[in-house]
Amino acid sequence: MVGVGAHPVEWSLAGGIRVRSTGCAQGDLAGAGPAVEARRAAVVNLPWTLLTQVHGARVVIVDEPGAASGEPADAAVTTVRGAALAVLTADCAPVALASPQGILGVVHAGWRGLRAGVVEAAVTAMRRLGATRVEAVVGPCVHPCCYSFGQEDLDSVARRLGPQVRAVDRQGRPALDLPAGVRAALHSAGATFLGEAGICTGCSEWHWSARAAGDTRRQATVVWRP
Ligand SMILES: [Zn+2]
Repeated sequence: MVGVGAHPVEWSLAGGIRVRSTGCAQGDLAGAGPAVEARRAAVVNLPWTLLTQVHGARVVIVDEPGAASGEPADAAVTTVRGAALAVLTADCAPVALASPQGILGVVHAGWRGLRAGVVEAAVTAMRRLGATRVEAVVGPCVHPCCYSFGQEDLDSVARRLGPQVRAVDRQGRPALDLPAGVRAALHSAGATFLGEAGICTGCSEWHWSARAAGDTRRQATVVWRP
């Protein structure tokens, strides 16, 4: 991992696959129009696939660069070189997936998607395309310090993913450990967790957070094979 603060967080993964997670310094990457298109191109200058994120478990297969944009889904996978798969996040976890075969994926994982099994579904979709080992990194997302959570919802996530998702926030209230939930889902899918940005979007002055600051602006995590 390189880059904190104003710089994107970047990883190089198996199969020559690259990952870049932006923050405020790269601008708001949500919305449409020439200005946002230019900001996206400055991050990764390839056709982006951006889904209509719905907190579900549907995975789309991208068969050419830029395909499947706008599809209602929370994960995308591809075998295609030059296809930039991206998710937009404020607090949800962006998960990048890679395999030595060059097959890659991206997942938008909030608590509802995690509970629905979106991470496991994406790993399964990659295996169907020929991925053997699947490795994963997790970009900036909200951490338990900033993620107080209702007891009932916390119970439902813990039933699905295990007790390690239970945490407390800065005030000692019940909180969801979203990164722990992603790690549990990756483990259950048989994927290898390599690391995470280690950035709480609620705490970081360099990242947008809907929960901590009511932001409607979004950072992006982009996965691609050059
Ligand atoms: Zn925090």
